[in-house]
Amino acid sequence: MLCLFLLSGCTKEERVFKKTRDVMYTLVTITVVSDSPEDAEEAINAGFDEIKRLEELINYYSPDSELSAVNRSSGKKPVKVSKDTIDMIRRALEISEFTGGAFNPAIGPVIKLWGFSKDESERRVPAKDAVSNALDLVDYKKVKIDMAGSEIFLEEEGMELDLGGIAKGYAADKAVEVLRSKGIKAALVAIAGDIRGYGSRPDGQPWRVGVQNPRPKAEKSGPGEDILTALYLEDEAVSTSGDYERFFTEDGKRYHHIIDPRTGFPAESQTISVSVIAPQGYMTDGISTGVFVLGSSRGIELLGSMGLEGIIVDADRRIYITKGLKGKVEIPQ
Ligand code: AMP
Ligand code: MG
Repeated sequence: MLCLFLLSGCTKEERVFKKTRDVMYTLVTITVVSDSPEDAEEAINAGFDEIKRLEELINYYSPDSELSAVNRSSGKKPVKVSKDTIDMIRRALEISEFTGGAFNPAIGPVIKLWGFSKDESERRVPAKDAVSNALDLVDYKKVKIDMAGSEIFLEEEGMELDLGGIAKGYAADKAVEVLRSKGIKAALVAIAGDIRGYGSRPDGQPWRVGVQNPRPKAEKSGPGEDILTALYLEDEAVSTSGDYERFFTEDGKRYHHIIDPRTGFPAESQTISVSVIAPQGYMTDGISTGVFVLGSSRGIELLGSMGLEGIIVDADRRIYITKGLKGKVEIPQ
């Protein structure tokens, strides 16, 4: 009796607490496991604060961000920035190297022409000349980092960095660091399609993450309602890049937001969705964008060479998975 009493009196039950907010122009959900609603709330709020803090540093659309200061000074002078901004740019350049330039954070001048900003009315097919002029400015090798002085210099006037292909995964990593520092033993941070988890659910099961069907059936068109497959995450991240996330249609053609840095036009790699699993979110975010540009066969090859796992869906709805996922995910035939 005493034992039972002690047990029920001393062990508080762990539960899942969850909050969704609009940050980084998208829906962010932070889920934590805790035995205290107060601790959970405090940690979740700190996680959101961290994501907002990072967004303010690298927001392309805000003139007040450090990133905008760097972009405005291109070809003129190096700009002193915080360690976080430097770190994010350094990692973006690392992914550029891994993907042979398919991921290219210097894509800013081209993205601007397409109007893939928060305001949907700005989206348009730009003139070919304008694209080719902008492409001359897209060179990640001309992004110079001075680690000691904490400075970034874009060597050519008119160059612009856009960290939209890596920032969400990076922010998920950082939010996880904050949750850990608050004593949270298990959590899932989902910034739209960039999701980082650690620990396990209260029932001991890993986090279950649905990979969205890139072409959902009409009757299941709501977010997360039509799932291609489920993935189970332990201490790792998954990101999905898809042509359905941000796009517009003109003269019957779909123009999406992932640009091939060789052409300045939406990648025509015949991929419609790429999911990548890796230990960290910045890596899954950047690599999934890069693999989208590379296409299924070079993409699967790259993932294999990096020891990462992934799922690629092509325009004919064929599904390719890396070796390590075979037998672990259910893929619809
Ligand atoms: P994601 O949704 O992570 O695949 O990233 C797409 C976003 O990254 C776009 O909205 C652009 O801001 C940016 N982007 C587009 N094409 C590229 C590219 N080839 N390399 C790096 N970033 C890109
Ligand atoms: Mg990405």
